[in-house]
Amino acid sequence: MKTIFGPEIKVRLKPKYYPFVEPGVGVDGLCIFCKGKGCKVCGGIGWLELAGAGMIHPKVLERGGIDPRIYSGIAWGFGPPRMAMLKFGIEDIRLFNSGDLQFLQQ
Ligand SMILES: [Zn+2]
Repeated sequence: MKTIFGPEIKVRLKPKYYPFVEPGVGVDGLCIFCKGKGCKVCGGIGWLELAGAGMIHPKVLERGGIDPRIYSGIAWGFGPPRMAMLKFGIEDIRLFNSGDLQFLQQ
């Protein structure tokens, strides 16, 4: 996160439920718009969820034909629109799907 956003970014890890991993973890970045005080962009909590991760649930591995007694795995993903919001100061995530060419061509 520091590589993408710079050394001043504040992030936190928190236990988080995702249906295909156990345990799961969420990665939040401090809201750059309100500096953690809470605003409409972050829903008043001061943080924006940027990524999620976790150990792949053994049942998922089994359904994929992989023996969970032999193999395990880590699943993770980032939310590109959320990351772009923080990186470029975009306050409304809906703009990415708006079809507004003036916005999308930036
Ligand atoms: Zn905020």
